[in-house]
Amino acid sequence: MITRGPRQLLAEVQQPGLCIGCGSCVELCPYFRSHGGKTVMLHDCDLPEGRCHAWCPKTELDLEGLAQELWDAPYSAQGMGPHLAVVAAKAGPRLEAGSYQAGGTVSALVCAALEQGLVQGAILTGGRGLDTAPTLAQTPEEVTACAGSKFTAAPTLAALNQAQAQGCGPLAVVATPCQSAALAQRRAKPWPQRGAAGPAELVIGLFCNWSLDPQGLARFLAQRVELASIRSMDIPPPPAGVLQVETTDGSLEIPLDEIRDLIPPACAMCPDMTSEWADLSVGMYEGRPGWNTLVVRNEKARTLTEAAVEAGWLVVEEFPVANKEHLVHAAQGKRSRGLGAALAQGLLGVSGEDQPKALRVSPELYQAVESGEVA
Ligand SMILES: Cc1cc2nc3c(=O)[nH]c(=O)nc-3n(C[C@H](O)[C@H](O)[C@H](O)COP(=O)(O)OP(=O)(O)OC[C@H]3O[C@@H](n4cnc5c(N)ncnc54)[C@H](O)[C@@H]3O)c2cc1C
Repeated sequence: MITRGPRQLLAEVQQPGLCIGCGSCVELCPYFRSHGGKTVMLHDCDLPEGRCHAWCPKTELDLEGLAQELWDAPYSAQGMGPHLAVVAAKAGPRLEAGSYQAGGTVSALVCAALEQGLVQGAILTGGRGLDTAPTLAQTPEEVTACAGSKFTAAPTLAALNQAQAQGCGPLAVVATPCQSAALAQRRAKPWPQRGAAGPAELVIGLFCNWSLDPQGLARFLAQRVELASIRSMDIPPPPAGVLQVETTDGSLEIPLDEIRDLIPPACAMCPDMTSEWADLSVGMYEGRPGWNTLVVRNEKARTLTEAAVEAGWLVVEEFPVANKEHLVHAAQGKRSRGLGAALAQGLLGVSGEDQPKALRVSPELYQAVESGEVA
């Protein structure tokens, strides 16, 4: 798998506007910093190869190479990534009341992982309103304080780098698909000679179709509400088609069509809706408010889920076959749109070739995307 240096990272990711601000390259060295939802480089650095480039989810994301390395299987255009089970889930009686986005499944799983000793802390994205505050949480109270979705891209992985540099570990990360991809890059391209930063012990991925540009959203909302009055936001499942903004003075509904321009270009070429590289993935359960869809992807995830149920953190139920089919269809749709967009922009390549590319796939999948078979 190909790795270059920080100058190439600027040329391939920052300058074309593909940086999603996930924070993967921040806090690894004195040069990259996160500011106002954007990643900035403070000084030039001429390292020929760096972790900043190796672990970025928006350049040289070799889907075929990662799948072979991490799943021991080819990357498929079908389905929603490897998994052992899909269940309906929500928090059990052990989880304190809080402002959970849906069923509180993510928070419940984090609490169970902490209690089990699987991890010593979890990197979460707290904050209120438009603020995102990546945080190390080590108690159920700290987990609950980070509940709820912030629909802007967040530099969550900078907090992971910081916690690892301070010697914390092993750690869980709650991650969007791009952040899960960055964490997969770390597993496939370890860099032990440069300090403690590296993979996470447990990745709880979120479903995500897109996020919003933090600065653009702030400018947009400032014309309608007092920004400091925003308490939370939600994008209910279709057919609602709105961003709901809860403020201290009431609530506001904004048609999604009015904010589509605020979706960063990097989201358009993302092929992953369900955080395929994570250990577990969690999303809304369409048509059943207060519940989540939970995808259990590997044995570690199965053990954690069973322990969470046993200890009263989590409740699970069967997930209807029709809902699973719908989920797979949605995941395939995002994958085909993402790969198609990357191809159209000249950013899709084949594993093993030299020229810089944002995404790489097998020659067979490349051909299928090019001929329109993946649609
Ligand atoms: C940008 C974004 C887009 C999403 N799009 C979809 C979608 O299209 N379909 C769908 O089914 N679900 C989507 N989700 C996931 C959904 O909103 C819930 O997060 C998920 O269902 C879990 O609910 P919960 O009640 O278990 O979460 P909670 O228990 O409330 O926990 C939520 C967790 O999300 C983390 N988090 C919040 N904001 C961010 C962020 N910006 N980046 C990284 N982590 C964050 C927090 O650390 C917190 O631990 C999206 C989430 C985000 C952040």
